[in-house]
Amino acid sequence: MNLLRPDIKTRAFILTLCLILSLNLAAATPSGERDTLINDGPYYFLSDDTLRVLWIENSMLRKGYLLPGVTDGTMLPADLSLSYRDLTRVYGVKPNYRQSYKGIDSIAVIADVHGNYNTFLSQLLSNGVIDKNLNWKFGKGHLVFLGDAFDRGDKVTEILWHLFKLEKQAVKNGGRVHFLLGNHELMVLAGDLRYNNEKYTKVEAITGIPYPALYSENSVLGKWLRAKPVMITINDILFVHAGVSPELIRKELKIKEVNKVFHERIVGKDIYSFTENEDLSLLSGNDGPVWYRGYFEESAPVISSLDSILSYYGKAHIVVGHTPQKSITALFGNKVIGVDTGMGFGQSGNMLLYKNGQFFKGSITGVRSKL
Ligand code: ZN
Repeated sequence: MNLLRPDIKTRAFILTLCLILSLNLAAATPSGERDTLINDGPYYFLSDDTLRVLWIENSMLRKGYLLPGVTDGTMLPADLSLSYRDLTRVYGVKPNYRQSYKGIDSIAVIADVHGNYNTFLSQLLSNGVIDKNLNWKFGKGHLVFLGDAFDRGDKVTEILWHLFKLEKQAVKNGGRVHFLLGNHELMVLAGDLRYNNEKYTKVEAITGIPYPALYSENSVLGKWLRAKPVMITINDILFVHAGVSPELIRKELKIKEVNKVFHERIVGKDIYSFTENEDLSLLSGNDGPVWYRGYFEESAPVISSLDSILSYYGKAHIVVGHTPQKSITALFGNKVIGVDTGMGFGQSGNMLLYKNGQFFKGSITGVRSKL
């Protein structure tokens, strides 16, 4: 039985239409009108066994709910149909701290999108991760989202929901989506809104809810994000938002320990309150995995130090985002690959692609060149 309220279904249609319009017919809408009306959401919150949902449509707050058993809840951007079960599954997910995948033929990496949903879609489309209907097309491949969906741009929610949906579709096809936390996820969850797009100030005003509370522990997206790792490995590659510093290695923290500490003690907490605790300040600070910029600075660790980082984790490459580059940058003979290509600052950027042991740079027009 479909218990979905009609207004939610109507909204699904409008959202789908809005996406098509924004992708294909943006020029047809007078820019003043387009800029002043706000659309955002949905934001789901579990209360007893009911999912309360709110969203903003043409600057108006809308509310509804979703009850157990509903399987056709089409209420998301890009026709992302998710059921009550899909949405509430996050409340039962136990974080996997030791994430290590082997024998993966195809990997695609995108980083630091910062609310630029259209660039995100174009990149995934051109590089063969999604099809023209925006669904998973990458088969058994692994898509790594290397952190920083939040801040700067004005379509953060859309990116998160799209990854949420692709995660499900990927598993169905034998592939995987990995969402790694970046410093901007941590900042927003901690209430640091310095870089938040002004649209979300209006979202706060319309909903009457502080922005971080839209991602609270009992919200679907907030719960989903809180279970995400900071470091993972695939084949001989270590993925981390910013980097592993020599200081971090001195602590001899295994990947599963880093992910566990982040999950239990850092994500969603006040990240500026750890000054008394040496380990937490290191992990959440400038030499920690979501902030470190050392590989790209003049004082970059010497190769011996980098080798000891790689050998500690038994890997050959570290792939990082966080520090913007003009294009994908390979340092130290491909030992470090920087994939933040400025999408958060309006650049079309690049994706890093990996196929059977070779790295490639993929452009927004689908041109692929060997790294
Ligand atoms: Zn970052």
